[in-house]
Amino acid sequence: MIKIFNTFTGSLDEFIPVKDNEVSMYVCGPTVYNYIHIGNARPAIFFDTVRRYFEYCGYKVKYVQNFTDVDDKMIKRSNEEKITLKEVADKYIAAYFEDTKKINLKEDGMIRPKATENIDEMIDIISKLIEKNYAYESNGDVYFRVGQYEDYGKLSKKNIDELLNGVRIDLNEQKKDPLDFALWKKAKEDEPSWDSPWGKGRPGWHIECSAMSNKYLGKTFDIHGGGEDLIFPHHENEIAQSKCSIGGNFANFWMHNRYININGEKMSKSLGNFKLLRDILTHFDGNILRLFVLGAHYRKIMEFSDKELDQTKISLERIENSLINAIEKSKLQASSSGYNGCDLEEELKIFKTKFKEAMDEDFNTAQAIGVMFELIRALNRATSNESFDENGLTVIKSVINYIKEIFEEVLGVNLKLTKEVESDSIANNLIELILELRQDARANKDWTTSDKIRDGLEKIGIKIKDGKDKTTWTM
Ligand SMILES: [Zn+2]
Repeated sequence: MIKIFNTFTGSLDEFIPVKDNEVSMYVCGPTVYNYIHIGNARPAIFFDTVRRYFEYCGYKVKYVQNFTDVDDKMIKRSNEEKITLKEVADKYIAAYFEDTKKINLKEDGMIRPKATENIDEMIDIISKLIEKNYAYESNGDVYFRVGQYEDYGKLSKKNIDELLNGVRIDLNEQKKDPLDFALWKKAKEDEPSWDSPWGKGRPGWHIECSAMSNKYLGKTFDIHGGGEDLIFPHHENEIAQSKCSIGGNFANFWMHNRYININGEKMSKSLGNFKLLRDILTHFDGNILRLFVLGAHYRKIMEFSDKELDQTKISLERIENSLINAIEKSKLQASSSGYNGCDLEEELKIFKTKFKEAMDEDFNTAQAIGVMFELIRALNRATSNESFDENGLTVIKSVINYIKEIFEEVLGVNLKLTKEVESDSIANNLIELILELRQDARANKDWTTSDKIRDGLEKIGIKIKDGKDKTTWTM
């Protein structure tokens, strides 16, 4: 039985899907006006793992994550870069895929709709809200009437009075009540806009997720996820819009991951300590980052630093070395007096159960990874033997396969289990060696040898160039 900590109920609830053996989930995606940062990567990696675990347990998963491709930040970027809104979106969506490919997000079967391709669906919902008196038009803008929806604040545990205290009253806005929020914004000059019953304009941010989740998952679906900063107002507003227009329960389970500390400080725009995913990936392999992110419980603040990533790199290498060693041992001939594998067989059973228990309890990846390390230690003990009987070899092979399966299929961490030296790097080293020999010849004024090397390299397509301090080469 899988249990999920549901932000809405505030408790650990048993997961009962809307449809048997199926999971429908919606996770708010990035606004594509910039490269994604580690704060976007955390939910991307975590919810990808949730999907993978459900699939591992035999569920069919329908997973939707949107791209927000129209909002103030997008428009600002399009003006700055002097390209259209669509060109901004195309550029940063391509960059998104380039970056996230390296952290092994499972794209197979993913539904990734764009806000601008679902404007009609949003207009439909807004029209329904106006019809039911949950929304009103005001000088080309449309607002949701928060006071009309009595459950407003239930997700974020905020009450209306508290909210009223914290609200900033902007006299320029056309709202009837300061808590009301925009569903549709009247077009400003030089802004991209769409036709609507209320004139030209563009949607507010919250409405897109109500429209796209309903379109792909229906009016009641299983899980809605995102970072904790989205609970209020974004998710609170999504609930209000969806429940008041389409009905249904919207999402049955709400899951939110906590934020990230960079070198001990909360990552935030104002502190300027944003870490772009692509910058991290120039120093660390995506598999290391993935193992690092999953090494923290998603409902705990994640402490990010290069030092922590260095540690994870060492841990991952340890896992790989243990498996490489075990694979070597598993190829040995069985001997009747060798290690019989009985204790490891028992441990495998125990750790399989422990792994499942950790993941079933609100996807506790931190604990689950800890269990895998214990299993690897047990494997190391077994493979420290010199000889193995038939059963011993069979058990070692099943442990190797189980560890590989969990890391690669469930955690999405691909393991390097071969020690082959890449042929490219051998060729590079050979050329460098030849250039060194040529350098020696030149130092001895042995021009015949030096020219012979140069001409010989040129014949096989390698051009060399003698610089002031160093000879460089190109192919
Ligand atoms: Zn959303």
